[in-house]
Amino acid sequence: MSEISLEVIVTGLVQGVGFRPFIFRIATKAGLTGWVLNTNENVKILVTGDPVNISSFLTALRNEAPPASMIEAISTVEIKSAVFDSFRILESHNVSDEITEISPDIAVCNDCLEDITKSGSRLNYAFVNCTNCGPRFTIIQDLPYDRAKTTMKTFAMCPECREEYETVTDRRFHAQPTACSNCGPTYELYAGQSKVSESIDVILDRVSQSVENSGVVLIKGLGGMHLACDAFNETAVKKLRDLKNREGKPFAVMFRDIAQLKIHAEVNEIEEQSLVSWRRPIVLLKKKNTTQQHVLAQNLNAGLNLLGVMLPYMPFHYMLFQQLKTSAIVLTSGNFSSEPILIDNKPALEQFLPVVDLAVMHNRDIYNRTDDSVTRIIGGKERIFRRSRGYAPAAVRTAMNTEGIVAFGAELTNCFCVGKGQKAFLSQHIGDLQGLETIQFYENTIKQFISLFRVKPELLAVDMHPEYISTKAGLNYGNFQVVKIQHHHAHIASCMAEHMLDEKVIGVALDGTGYGTDGHIWGSEFLVCDLNDFTRITHFDYIPLPGGDSAAEEPWRTAVSFLYKVYGKEFLSLGLPFLNHLDPDKVALIIQMIDKKINCPLSSGAGRLFDCVASLLDLVQEATFQAEGPMRLEAIVRTDCTESYAFECKETIQFGLTIQEITDDIRRGTDTSIIATKFHNTIILAIFETVKSIRLKEGINKVVLSGGVFQNKYLLEGTIQVLLKNNFEVYSHATVPSNDGGIALGQLAVASKRRELLCV
Ligand code: ZN
Ligand code: ZN
Ligand code: FE
Repeated sequence: MSEISLEVIVTGLVQGVGFRPFIFRIATKAGLTGWVLNTNENVKILVTGDPVNISSFLTALRNEAPPASMIEAISTVEIKSAVFDSFRILESHNVSDEITEISPDIAVCNDCLEDITKSGSRLNYAFVNCTNCGPRFTIIQDLPYDRAKTTMKTFAMCPECREEYETVTDRRFHAQPTACSNCGPTYELYAGQSKVSESIDVILDRVSQSVENSGVVLIKGLGGMHLACDAFNETAVKKLRDLKNREGKPFAVMFRDIAQLKIHAEVNEIEEQSLVSWRRPIVLLKKKNTTQQHVLAQNLNAGLNLLGVMLPYMPFHYMLFQQLKTSAIVLTSGNFSSEPILIDNKPALEQFLPVVDLAVMHNRDIYNRTDDSVTRIIGGKERIFRRSRGYAPAAVRTAMNTEGIVAFGAELTNCFCVGKGQKAFLSQHIGDLQGLETIQFYENTIKQFISLFRVKPELLAVDMHPEYISTKAGLNYGNFQVVKIQHHHAHIASCMAEHMLDEKVIGVALDGTGYGTDGHIWGSEFLVCDLNDFTRITHFDYIPLPGGDSAAEEPWRTAVSFLYKVYGKEFLSLGLPFLNHLDPDKVALIIQMIDKKINCPLSSGAGRLFDCVASLLDLVQEATFQAEGPMRLEAIVRTDCTESYAFECKETIQFGLTIQEITDDIRRGTDTSIIATKFHNTIILAIFETVKSIRLKEGINKVVLSGGVFQNKYLLEGTIQVLLKNNFEVYSHATVPSNDGGIALGQLAVASKRRELLCV
């Protein structure tokens, strides 16, 4: 058969992920000639060969692409036959001012791990990387992705590294962070007030000794500082907790390997895939009740059955576990609660050296701060709860024109989002916009994204809440048009954008709090909406929230409010055990506040209903971390109970009967796990009944689920199941957080739609 030539254009996340060497490999293997080159918009390939070989090349292109790449589209055009004598990688060139995408950071690959064990300049060298792995986003200062535009620019490559970097067949061909012990970054150890060593052997030795002896060590990582200690040592964990001033919030644990991890947590196949993927997130798993002597410290996860676990992802982690006797260490963000994770050596040493036993720094600067990402497998799918290292700043692909839109996000768990073409670049996890440092991080990162992705802001999108820092940031940003978007409409729009939906849907947004258009606090919203607008069909009935937002920190207040609404003052004489743990004067004060309507905004927040039940069951009265009540409630749910409580669907959805029946169950001495399960089943049923009646009236069959409450596995799985069984088409979040970290994408989607309809 005669030879043909084909021009192939590949778009997507195809740069900085070992794509050209991959093309070189599969083209040569198929016996093709031609070339491949990077432009700033795509990867361009020209292949000449017989059609059968070209077809097998295209199959390999589709099926064997490097794991960290994301092919958006492959287009092919047959051209006039061109003759080449070999296949070559050509010099890159820029064809326009467009930008390519930035790869997230990639966990160290097996080839590089092997390099650490071989004699030569990478023996025991903790900064190995190649085109298939290593730092990316965290070190990138500008595009196009080139060493001179990364924090590696201060390290001049030695001749050997340079040679690898320039050899097309080498694994380090154009690997921008290429380095070895002769030319690259190094670790340094600090103790007391001073630097004590730069030898990696000494550092690993001292750190392991310290960890074995209940020490707490500060370790500079990929996207920020970590604090580490032995995960089996209660004293060490306590020390770490005191040091961070973080009372209850669970700590993440890094295990030596998957085998050790499986001893302590239940891992199914999909969870394992998430754990070992190149993204290496923290995965929330069910803790095993091991009968082994060696049990994880109880104070790690505040007695919850969920545990955030991860596997090593930096060469240093692997090298440390080689030395450590323990199979698991706590690895939590190096910061004081409420501040963003520290990235610079000097402030980190100043703040932490006086309080930790050792500090391990390195001299490769972190430019873009990233936290460890958090996922949970629900309904057989990976769901992102915190989208940062390994995930950001990968583009979210949409079906809309997003150009020039900047969406500022919500107040807590903030991420913002910028639009370019049809892509949405959702920022890494920023955090709660409360402390000065986090607000600075927020403002700086917005600037960085706008410059990095060459965004020319045209249209801004903010939450309707006038007091959100993010709303104010948008309003003060400059002389641009600003679209204000209702919080729960943005939640639903976010999930719609993730699934490229652009039509009328039934939206169910369940979360803690969001600004409502009627002046009340919303948080359990059943909407009929499209990307442009929404109608609020119904919601959980309002209850007064004594103390407003601070009620979320003290679930007992909400419980008192619910009981008072259902029983009046009689609830005090029902003999409910949880009341014994409350100060009667405080309870009386709450009742007075409700009566006199003092600082008692009305709320329909689903999170508060969960808080109420968690408090009634005496699982928590004062929350030590966000959503503690709902998490404790979910933690005791069982799988062998299908019963539920009564509720009423009137103009609103009312849970007065539910509270009564729960109260009866408590007084009867029913097991708390049964009550918690019946309560969950009740919510699932309430969602189902409500969307069923909306479908009947509106003829809409697509249901979109969003909001932080759907991070509850039992609730999300149960809701999806019952809706699917009744022939609904169900959409829920996977690659974008369903909590407020996903809001910005929804804001961007609504702004884009309104611009399209000329509504702005
Ligand atoms: Zn590698
Ligand atoms: Zn070198
Ligand atoms: Fe929300």
